[in-house]
Amino acid sequence: MQAFPPRRTTSTITSLELRGITKRFPGVIANDTVNLSVHGGEIHALLGENGAGKSTLMKILYGLYQPDAGEVRINDQPVTISSPQDAIARGIGMIHQHFMLVPSLTVAENIALGLRSSRGLRLDLDRVSAEVQRLAELYGLRVDPKASIWQLSVGEQQRVEILKALYRGAELLVLDEPTAVITPQEVDDLFAMLRQMRTEGRALIFISHKLREVIALSDRVSVLRDGRLVGTFATAGKSRSDLARLMVGREVVAARADNSHPTEHAGSVALELHGISAQSDRNTPALHGVTLQVRAGEILGLAGVSGNGQRELAEVIAGLRPTSAGTIKLAGKELMGNPAERANAGISYIPEERMRDGAVLEFSVAENLILRNHTEAPFARGPLLDRSAVDQAGRDLIQRFNIKTPGPHTPLKSLSGGNIQKVIMARELSREPAVLVAAQPTRGVDIGATAAIHQLLIELRQRGGAILLISEDLDEILALADRIAVIHAGNIAAILPHAEATPERLGLLMAGVASEVT
Ligand code: ADP
Ligand code: MG
Repeated sequence: MQAFPPRRTTSTITSLELRGITKRFPGVIANDTVNLSVHGGEIHALLGENGAGKSTLMKILYGLYQPDAGEVRINDQPVTISSPQDAIARGIGMIHQHFMLVPSLTVAENIALGLRSSRGLRLDLDRVSAEVQRLAELYGLRVDPKASIWQLSVGEQQRVEILKALYRGAELLVLDEPTAVITPQEVDDLFAMLRQMRTEGRALIFISHKLREVIALSDRVSVLRDGRLVGTFATAGKSRSDLARLMVGREVVAARADNSHPTEHAGSVALELHGISAQSDRNTPALHGVTLQVRAGEILGLAGVSGNGQRELAEVIAGLRPTSAGTIKLAGKELMGNPAERANAGISYIPEERMRDGAVLEFSVAENLILRNHTEAPFARGPLLDRSAVDQAGRDLIQRFNIKTPGPHTPLKSLSGGNIQKVIMARELSREPAVLVAAQPTRGVDIGATAAIHQLLIELRQRGGAILLISEDLDEILALADRIAVIHAGNIAAILPHAEATPERLGLLMAGVASEVT
């Protein structure tokens, strides 16, 4: 086996074709006779909602799954790709949503890993380092080959994955939702790099559910819906709403808060955090003296790259995590006690891990809807639940919040992700909370349900609720928030009014490059 395949300078994949690909999993057809063709020198977007079948299709191309029917053709020849090694040998690379790097090893070691060699690792590493340096310069990727992976930001780790694929001679590169975890500046760098690869004749498949990115980057776009290909289109002729319609199968109207004059709506301070510090699950400091206020009738957005203390902050407010310093006040009164007591005091909470922390999947929809107040009238009858009262309340909320379920008795787990989230929203909002802490409320939720959830947040704000919206999706924050706080490494880097919060400025703050506490 050759350790260092000669790198091809001109692309040898001129066309890739997936013909009639079908892949079934128990109970679902993830891909249903899908046809897709991609050629060298193009950036081809693969667009679809969560569960549409995008990752499955690409895992087939990468040899991780075998299709139940259909064929893969490269340069008009049918090929069988039985493993990722096979795919790599044919010049196909894939950047997964979750990186597959070893944290304790260096960049060069990670890139050398998996390459078989008859020579010693030392010699290989010098050659790898030199080659990594060359590739990094060629693509303007700033990465130190001798840095350990754990020292790198998520965006830098992504660059290492891309370098690894290039190093192995990838001529067709698949990127599965690569922008979900990086800052706006890193997105710009990534796009520049992908365009550079395009000019070299490489083929790029860019998976995304973000319409703006698809429009900014791709030459053509293929849309998947429920496992089927809706069609392949030139991107230039399509607007965002065209693409949204193709993706969802009907018209979608995005909700937007009137957040241009935030102070006009806001009332008195509802939630106040002062100097809050707390530890992470691993007992390392996660929050360092966080101070912020949320007013009645205001949405305060909390922006940040995943893992900068957002989860800890939400849990501290909800009463799920102890603080080591600081105070939390609700309408001027110190907030204490367990989660149930805080809920009764007027705090509602939509947890990030909604399947684990927000609901009981085995219980019925109606039971989940009253989970917070099942010991109160009219539901409690001695130690028992009053079934008809529960059903009645369930039916009311299902109707009011437009939850798609066969009925109140259906087990929650059989609903779609978006409808499970609507059940949690309905339960938390029907209490008319003074404060709502919403953590990643639309993550993994389809566009239709996302629009409905945004509308509910806006309505609560209109009724005078104070909302802390924690989201890694900047578009969501910019559409809804009156003011935007940026969290980085457990510190509030800045709090900006909506009018001053551009994606560029927020991105710098999210990356910890600038700090401007106001
Ligand atoms: P996307 O990447 O577009 O979000 P996926 O390809 O991951 O969609 O999933 C398509 C469908 O196949 C979903 O219904 C998903 O639950 C199902 N699915 C994906 N992978 C598996 C698997 N390994 N086992 C069972 N079902 C799966
Ligand atoms: Mg996927």
